[in-house]
Amino acid sequence: MKLPEKYDGENKNRMKALSQVVRPKLGDTIPLSVFRVFRQFSALHAEEILGRTGTKVVFQHAGRQLGIEVGKSLHIDDLQEYLNRVFEYVEDNGIGILSVNTDEEGKMIFKLDECITCAGMPDIGKKICHFEVGIVAGAVEAFLGESVAATESKCNADGDDFCEVTVTV
Ligand SMILES: [Zn+2]
Repeated sequence: MKLPEKYDGENKNRMKALSQVVRPKLGDTIPLSVFRVFRQFSALHAEEILGRTGTKVVFQHAGRQLGIEVGKSLHIDDLQEYLNRVFEYVEDNGIGILSVNTDEEGKMIFKLDECITCAGMPDIGKKICHFEVGIVAGAVEAFLGESVAATESKCNADGDDFCEVTVTV
């Protein structure tokens, strides 16, 4: 399966526009708690309208757009080298510390430590890092040139010690 046309071009311009910050006094960083409030309150309100599954899909697809853009910007043919650069991007941007957790037949399983969205949160009984799942899925898609399925198989907010993204290829 080829990637849909909608992934081409537009998001690159969007990301460029979003990264232009002019805040001479306040700068371009914010407390993580502010990001989490934006993120979680948005998700909770989305759940009221779209339901849990719908919300998961929306956030995951948004993350995929970013993962695809990051992946497409790398131009690396070797999978290991490619993944290392993706891991670097994720860590350098404070999203978390991403690594390969284990490999199973037909699956790529990634561990995300210090997740931007949920690290340190108490167990609220659900997995909430749909955007991060999307980033990982999108990066894998960009490498393979085809769509993949991805789920969050572990999450700090669901009582685990780290987040885990399982990509089925
Ligand atoms: Zn999580």
